Amino acid sequence: GSLVAYADASPTNGVPSIASKANGDEKKKKVVVLGTGWAGTSFLKNIKDPSYEVQVISPRNYFAFTPLLPSVTCGTVEARSIVEPIRNIVRKKRVDIRFNEAECYKIDAENRKLYCRSNENNNLNGKKEFVVDYDYLVIAVGAQVNTFNTPGVVENCHFLKEVEDAQRIRRTVIDCFERASLPTLDEEDRKKILHFAVVGGGPTGVEFAAELHDFVNEDLVKLYPGLQDFVKITLLEAGDHILNMFDKRITTFAEEKFRRDGIDVKTGSMVIKVTDKEISTKEMKNGEISSMPYGMTVWSTGIGTRPIIKDFMTQIGQANRRALATDEWLRVEGCDNVYALGDCATINQRRVMEDISAIFSKADQDNSGTLTVKEFQEVIDDICERYPQVELYLKNKQMHNIVDLLKKGSKEDVAKESIELDIEEFKSALSQVDSQMKNLPATAQVAAQQGAYLAHCFNRMDECEKDPEGPLRFRGSGRHRFRPFRYKHLGQFAPLGGEQTAAQLPGDWVSIGHSSQWLWYSVYASKQVSWRTRALVITDWTRRFVFGRDSSR
Ligand code: FAD
Ligand code: MG
Ligand code: MG
Ligand code: MG
Ligand code: MG
Repeated sequence: GSLVAYADASPTNGVPSIASKANGDEKKKKVVVLGTGWAGTSFLKNIKDPSYEVQVISPRNYFAFTPLLPSVTCGTVEARSIVEPIRNIVRKKRVDIRFNEAECYKIDAENRKLYCRSNENNNLNGKKEFVVDYDYLVIAVGAQVNTFNTPGVVENCHFLKEVEDAQRIRRTVIDCFERASLPTLDEEDRKKILHFAVVGGGPTGVEFAAELHDFVNEDLVKLYPGLQDFVKITLLEAGDHILNMFDKRITTFAEEKFRRDGIDVKTGSMVIKVTDKEISTKEMKNGEISSMPYGMTVWSTGIGTRPIIKDFMTQIGQANRRALATDEWLRVEGCDNVYALGDCATINQRRVMEDISAIFSKADQDNSGTLTVKEFQEVIDDICERYPQVELYLKNKQMHNIVDLLKKGSKEDVAKESIELDIEEFKSALSQVDSQMKNLPATAQVAAQQGAYLAHCFNRMDECEKDPEGPLRFRGSGRHRFRPFRYKHLGQFAPLGGEQTAAQLPGDWVSIGHSSQWLWYSVYASKQVSWRTRALVITDWTRRFVFGRDSSR
């Protein structure tokens, strides 16, 4: 029997219930998608079933390839090259997809209504607002910048989240150089203006600092002779190390490379206030507070919750969470026909310990009250599918099989595989397993995989409805039941400037240097949403190699 059903009471496991289609097929089921970022766009690219009518609502009528945003800040690639109009993406599809450029500001799940507002600033004579109904709602609105309520950040810092942010940063960098060239300034003024502070030692902050360093040293020094000595880049990180989500080898390499490059890496240093002229920090180890003048500050310290999501979470009893909780099928908990994915959501992974009795009795096929190794072996694959932490545990503890996990009996017992466990022993064998549970990272990789997964579920929903009582098999013939979402990690890059990139690939394979830079170029070229943006990006890179970066505003 299936081991999946027990944790999930609903008879249509993973399949949302909707009104029967028996009486006429004319009315299409309406899916509303909020957001055209990584998650939303991936959903739209993969939805195929023409029996849906899809309405997309997003304040931006394009998809932006965020991994190349840091390159836009210094003109290594042009903003135009990393965006693709959403209407272009959906135009060729057989599914009926409409787009509205607007922001949804309130979700009313009880009445299945969405309150939206056009971001058109022109006078629309009060016709800016509209209400949209849905049968299914797909929430993919992403996250916003997190300032941790640090005073002065919103007013004085640049963010690096949207395409406009990157363009603004680019203009400001050039502005600083032009201002510093004015004859009226003394050395102190020049130093202040050409001090660039980057707050946050995560991948985005690090990549921006590296990109800016290259821009200054490869291009701007030639155009602004004499200013090089006044330029300073400071990277501020509250933790002990930069890039702390990466392998130790990458962190060390990055810190050393930055030091050699003259980028001042200040770890253990938390920003507590930013005024229009100065940035104040507190040393984590001794509490010492100091201030330094700056010309431009870029704030990149992670993500926070959007107001619309906060409001919605309060409505559905999820207040005080950082992101919307869903089950492994990406259904929002406590809410029918609403799905959430990408940066605005987290999967509430089930604990093995919560379901331990159910697992035990399912596995104990002969109802003997004890489990044999053989009985357990028969269900382990299903358990790993439903509870990925079990597989991680086996792998991280370097256990080769479940006998290792159940090793309780004597050597001979193990050899004969004749161990039998009662429920208490079974519990204690699995007691450490849940400690392996981790939230998925807020990355484009996760968002895109979730979008594709959800579209796939939607494409097959019909099939499941026609035969809801179909074979309950979970593995093998996945036709009637959806598998829970499983993330497949394909690795992560950290561009460090000077044509060097650190790559951390699955299996802890680490590679740093020029060869990974080429891997980076080819992966990011291949991941483009369209041949058009792919061509543009490659052209930009080539242009940069030949002519350098463009330094006009
Ligand atoms: P987003 O892509 O942010 O999309 C959200 C969408 O919702 C947008 O279209 C937005 O306009 C829309 N929206 C917002 N509010 C509303 C509303 N109220 N109503 C309707 N629509 C709304 N990840 C990687 O894996 N690799 C990388 O190299 C990488 N580099 C990055 C570099 C930078 C500079 C940044 C900022 C992020 C980077 N990321 C990277 C992270 C990645 O971009 C995010 O994890 C990803 O965008 C999340 O996808 P999403 O669809 O959830 O949100
Ligand atoms: Mg999205
Ligand atoms: Mg995006
Ligand atoms: Mg998420
Ligand atoms: Mg038994």
